[in-house]
Amino acid sequence: MGWLDGKTALITGGGSGIGRAVVDRYVEEGATVGVLELDGDRVTALNEEYGDTVHAVQGDVSEWEDNERAVAETVSEFGKLDIFVGNAGIFDKVVQLADLEPDELETAFEEVFRVNVLGYMLGAKAALPELLKTEGCMVFTASYSSFYPATGGMVYTPSKHAIAGIIRELAYELAPKIRVNGVAPGYSPTNLSGVEALGQGESAADPDEIDERYPLRIPEAEEYAGYYVLLGSEENSRASTGAIIEADSGLSIRGADEP
Ligand code: NAD
Repeated sequence: MGWLDGKTALITGGGSGIGRAVVDRYVEEGATVGVLELDGDRVTALNEEYGDTVHAVQGDVSEWEDNERAVAETVSEFGKLDIFVGNAGIFDKVVQLADLEPDELETAFEEVFRVNVLGYMLGAKAALPELLKTEGCMVFTASYSSFYPATGGMVYTPSKHAIAGIIRELAYELAPKIRVNGVAPGYSPTNLSGVEALGQGESAADPDEIDERYPLRIPEAEEYAGYYVLLGSEENSRASTGAIIEADSGLSIRGADEP
């Protein structure tokens, strides 16, 4: 028996990293899964690998029509929608305000906020009518950067703070029918923020330093998936809405000084 037996989820950005790990774990726990993913090769790989249990759709979370289509195809394939996982995000690069020309700031703002913030809102809005039918739930990928400055991400960090606002506002709006919660990962070596990405620019963090800042060992993407099972399962988290679990390997309790 799996914790998500008989449930259907839609996961954005399910083709790589944390989203892909959640797809794999949700299937293991008995769910059928729709995916909205920008990268066509990852869409093909998911559909070929899973056949009947996963239905991946190529599209962009920042486009309303793509969100609508992903919800419609998931429901047509699996009959309903119980869990919406808003996860697709982009990091851009390590940037500080002083290093950006105004037009660069505007471009980065538009690109990152369009995917990381508008994309979450559009996905949630498209999923809402179906979730109201099943009294389902939403789980969003927030970040350590939803609460703290992290990586010199002058544009990324404010976008992730906005996600905390989306989670709390939606949780308030949709109670008592729909629970809305989030997971706030610290760091994991994915395609988004691999050591290569953190190594960009003058303000880049030293990859070796990244390890030293974490009291616990840095997890692989797969090690976050259990949080999404917990928050997606009524039995395990029915008293939580508007909650964001800090899964940051202890980074937030680390303090400013070296040990
Ligand atoms: P990733 O790049 O490995 O995976 C993200 C997936 O989303 C990719 O498959 C990508 O193609 C897809 N995607 C990107 N833009 C999209 C769009 N517009 N429409 C549809 N799909 C799109 O990265 P990841 O690290 O797994 O990131 C997933 C989430 O986790 C992001 O929201 C990120 O901000 C968050 N996060 C990551 C870390 C980390 O250290 N990796 C830490 C905290 C939070």
